[in-house]
Amino acid sequence: MFKKYRKKSPWILHYNAGSCNGCDIEILACLSPKYDLERFGVINTGNPKQSDIFLVTGPVTYRSRERLVELYNQMPNPKVVVAVGSCTCTGGVFRGMYNVEDGIDRYIPVDVYIPGCAASPELIMDGVVKGLEILETKQKVSDDK
Ligand code: SF4
Repeated sequence: MFKKYRKKSPWILHYNAGSCNGCDIEILACLSPKYDLERFGVINTGNPKQSDIFLVTGPVTYRSRERLVELYNQMPNPKVVVAVGSCTCTGGVFRGMYNVEDGIDRYIPVDVYIPGCAASPELIMDGVVKGLEILETKQKVSDDK
Protein backbone atom coordinates (compact mmCIF):
# COMPACT_ATOMS: atom_id res chain seq x y z
CA MET A 1 0.00 0.00 0.00
CA PHE A 2 1.37 3.40 -0.99
CA LYS A 3 2.41 5.38 2.01
CA LYS A 4 0.38 8.53 1.48
CA TYR A 5 2.58 10.53 3.77
CA ARG A 6 5.50 9.97 1.41
CA LYS A 7 3.61 11.69 -1.39
CA LYS A 8 2.56 14.50 0.90
CA SER A 9 5.96 15.06 2.42
CA PRO A 10 8.66 14.04 -0.02
CA TRP A 11 12.14 14.86 1.14
CA ILE A 12 14.70 15.89 -1.40
CA LEU A 13 18.43 15.46 -1.58
CA HIS A 14 20.23 18.08 -3.64
CA TYR A 15 23.66 17.28 -5.05
CA ASN A 16 25.92 19.43 -7.19
CA ALA A 17 27.84 17.13 -9.53
CA GLY A 18 29.99 19.88 -10.98
CA SER A 19 27.53 22.58 -11.98
CA CYS A 20 28.32 26.28 -12.35
CA ASN A 21 25.83 26.88 -9.48
CA GLY A 22 23.29 28.48 -11.81
CA CYS A 23 20.78 25.64 -11.47
CA ASP A 24 21.52 25.30 -7.74
CA ILE A 25 20.49 28.89 -7.21
CA GLU A 26 17.23 28.18 -9.07
CA ILE A 27 16.58 25.20 -6.79
CA LEU A 28 17.07 27.47 -3.79
CA ALA A 29 14.66 29.96 -5.38
CA CYS A 30 12.06 27.16 -5.52
CA LEU A 31 12.41 26.74 -1.77
CA SER A 32 11.97 30.47 -1.14
CA PRO A 33 8.55 31.97 -0.26
CA LYS A 34 8.09 33.21 -3.85
CA TYR A 35 7.76 29.69 -5.32
CA ASP A 36 7.24 27.84 -2.05
CA LEU A 37 8.07 24.28 -3.08
CA GLU A 38 7.58 23.41 0.60
CA ARG A 39 3.82 23.75 0.12
CA PHE A 40 4.03 20.21 -1.31
CA GLY A 41 5.61 19.08 1.94
CA VAL A 42 9.09 19.12 0.44
CA ILE A 43 12.02 19.44 2.79
CA ASN A 44 15.58 19.75 1.59
CA THR A 45 17.46 17.22 3.69
CA GLY A 46 21.17 16.52 3.67
CA ASN A 47 20.64 12.87 4.47
CA PRO A 48 20.27 10.39 1.56
CA LYS A 49 18.80 7.76 3.88
CA GLN A 50 15.78 9.97 4.49
CA SER A 51 15.30 11.20 0.94
CA ASP A 52 12.76 10.28 -1.74
CA ILE A 53 13.77 12.59 -4.57
CA PHE A 54 17.35 13.08 -5.75
CA LEU A 55 17.79 16.50 -7.37
CA VAL A 56 21.08 16.59 -9.24
CA THR A 57 22.77 19.48 -11.00
CA GLY A 58 25.95 19.48 -13.07
CA PRO A 59 27.45 17.37 -15.86
CA VAL A 60 29.19 14.92 -13.47
CA THR A 61 32.86 15.60 -13.10
CA TYR A 62 35.30 12.74 -12.72
CA ARG A 63 35.72 13.73 -9.09
CA SER A 64 31.99 13.72 -8.32
CA ARG A 65 30.84 10.53 -10.06
CA GLU A 66 31.69 8.14 -7.23
CA ARG A 67 29.87 10.30 -4.70
CA LEU A 68 26.86 10.56 -7.04
CA VAL A 69 26.48 6.77 -7.22
CA GLU A 70 27.14 6.40 -3.48
CA LEU A 71 24.39 8.88 -2.58
CA TYR A 72 21.97 7.22 -4.99
CA ASN A 73 22.64 3.80 -3.49
CA GLN A 74 22.09 5.10 0.03
CA MET A 75 18.58 6.33 -0.74
CA PRO A 76 15.74 3.94 0.14
CA ASN A 77 13.51 2.47 -2.58
CA PRO A 78 11.37 3.60 -4.24
CA LYS A 79 13.18 6.76 -5.22
CA VAL A 80 13.11 9.26 -8.02
CA VAL A 81 15.98 11.02 -9.76
CA VAL A 82 15.47 14.45 -11.28
CA ALA A 83 18.19 15.82 -13.56
CA VAL A 84 18.09 19.61 -13.22
CA GLY A 85 19.50 21.61 -16.12
CA SER A 86 20.91 20.89 -19.55
CA CYS A 87 24.37 19.94 -18.36
CA THR A 88 22.91 17.32 -16.00
CA CYS A 89 20.85 15.88 -18.86
CA THR A 90 23.52 15.83 -21.58
CA GLY A 91 26.65 17.62 -20.47
CA GLY A 92 25.27 20.91 -21.86
CA VAL A 93 27.91 23.59 -22.26
CA PHE A 94 30.47 21.29 -20.65
CA ARG A 95 29.82 18.42 -23.07
CA GLY A 96 32.98 16.85 -24.41
CA MET A 97 35.30 18.45 -21.87
CA TYR A 98 38.15 16.28 -20.65
CA ASN A 99 36.95 16.20 -17.06
CA VAL A 100 33.18 15.59 -17.33
CA GLU A 101 30.92 12.61 -18.03
CA ASP A 102 28.26 14.36 -20.19
CA GLY A 103 25.25 13.84 -17.94
CA ILE A 104 24.21 11.69 -15.01
CA ASP A 105 22.34 8.90 -16.81
CA ARG A 106 25.58 7.11 -17.60
CA TYR A 107 25.80 6.35 -13.89
CA ILE A 108 22.32 6.41 -12.36
CA PRO A 109 18.81 6.01 -13.86
CA VAL A 110 16.98 9.29 -14.41
CA ASP A 111 13.18 9.64 -14.05
CA VAL A 112 12.71 13.30 -14.97
CA TYR A 113 14.87 15.45 -17.24
CA ILE A 114 14.58 19.21 -16.82
CA PRO A 115 16.19 21.20 -19.66
CA GLY A 116 17.38 24.77 -19.50
CA CYS A 117 20.56 26.67 -18.76
CA ALA A 118 19.72 27.52 -16.11
CA ALA A 119 16.57 25.45 -15.51
CA SER A 120 13.78 27.81 -14.51
CA PRO A 121 12.10 27.52 -11.10
CA GLU A 122 8.79 26.81 -12.86
CA LEU A 123 10.28 23.81 -14.69
CA ILE A 124 11.98 22.58 -11.52
CA MET A 125 8.65 22.77 -9.66
CA ASP A 126 6.97 20.84 -12.50
CA GLY A 127 9.75 18.27 -12.44
CA VAL A 128 9.41 17.66 -8.71
CA VAL A 129 5.62 17.29 -8.99
CA LYS A 130 6.12 14.85 -11.89
CA GLY A 131 8.62 13.03 -9.71
CA LEU A 132 5.95 12.63 -7.02
CA GLU A 133 3.65 10.90 -9.52
CA ILE A 134 6.45 8.59 -10.58
CA LEU A 135 7.27 7.84 -6.95
CA GLU A 136 3.66 6.80 -6.36
CA THR A 137 3.66 4.53 -9.43
CA LYS A 138 6.93 2.91 -8.37
CA GLN A 139 5.54 2.24 -4.91
CA LYS A 140 2.42 0.62 -6.37
CA VAL A 141 4.53 -1.62 -8.61
CA SER A 142 6.66 -2.76 -5.69
CA ASP A 143 3.51 -3.39 -3.58
CA ASP A 144 2.09 -5.64 -6.33
CA LYS A 145 5.16 -7.88 -6.39
S1 SF4 B 1 22.65 23.90 -17.03
FE1 SF4 B 1 23.71 25.89 -17.27
S2 SF4 B 1 23.16 27.07 -15.43
FE2 SF4 B 1 22.68 24.92 -15.00
S3 SF4 B 1 24.50 24.17 -13.94
FE3 SF4 B 1 24.72 23.69 -16.16
S4 SF4 B 1 25.89 25.42 -17.00
FE4 SF4 B 1 25.10 26.06 -14.99
